[in-house]
Amino acid sequence: DVSHGRILYLEDVTVSFDGFRALNQLSLDIAPGELRCIIGPNGAGKTTLMDVITGKTRPDAGTVYFGSTIDLLRHSEPEIAAMGIGRKFQKPTVFENLTVFENLELALACHKGVWASMRFKLKAEQRDRLAQVLHTIELTQQCHALAGSLSHGQKQWLEIGMLLMQEPKLLLLDEPVAGMTDSETERTAELLSKLKQHHSLIVVEHDMGFVRAICSKVTVLCEGALLAEGTLDEVQADERVIEVYLGR
Ligand code: ADP
Repeated sequence: DVSHGRILYLEDVTVSFDGFRALNQLSLDIAPGELRCIIGPNGAGKTTLMDVITGKTRPDAGTVYFGSTIDLLRHSEPEIAAMGIGRKFQKPTVFENLTVFENLELALACHKGVWASMRFKLKAEQRDRLAQVLHTIELTQQCHALAGSLSHGQKQWLEIGMLLMQEPKLLLLDEPVAGMTDSETERTAELLSKLKQHHSLIVVEHDMGFVRAICSKVTVLCEGALLAEGTLDEVQADERVIEVYLGR
């Protein structure tokens, strides 16, 4: 239920490791269909934030809601994934010895909990969705190629496709353009713009050119807390952000 105008809501979330606060009373609000970039220097708490949202790390204090009704702190990591929060780590983890098609099929089978069944067969509507996902990630022509033969960028898109097979409402992407060529980066910006039509996205990113290209609202974290929020131009003009990035 996103009727209250938010798909994800964090309030005063604190995570401590041996007394050190990796997140310090962080609040965050993501609207349906929003693409939010999270930036900040190393150690700012970006990964810890993703870990809290996906249920990998439990906060010491605070509130984490998915939509307006689901208290994520009451759910396990697999339950949260099944509810529609998909996460992609920086390194692509596709099955290199399977084809593009088989990777997507497998992602669907895993989602449906029928991976163990050798009799898993795609239904017509699933076949349509798979074709739609192939089109979205622009890998229709590579459908029967082994995933191991794809370029780095194509592997990243395939992994996003695997997440899409699980029909997520919210996608968390960790540095999706790391290691990509300029043209792959451009195509990824286009892909994320497409995804925004049906999904909300949170993207942790270091590449400011890419952040500018996807034109989203930016949240700057520093020392586990919110330092600034706004357009890239707004946060880049913020004295505190300049200080953190330039170390003045
Ligand atoms: P970022 O992703 O922005 O680089 P992280 O969320 O990885 O930042 O880390 C934030 C801070 O919390 C860092 O100082 C890191 O060393 C610390 N930290 C993260 N995870 C742990 C852990 N499991 N145990 C101890 N300290 C941790």
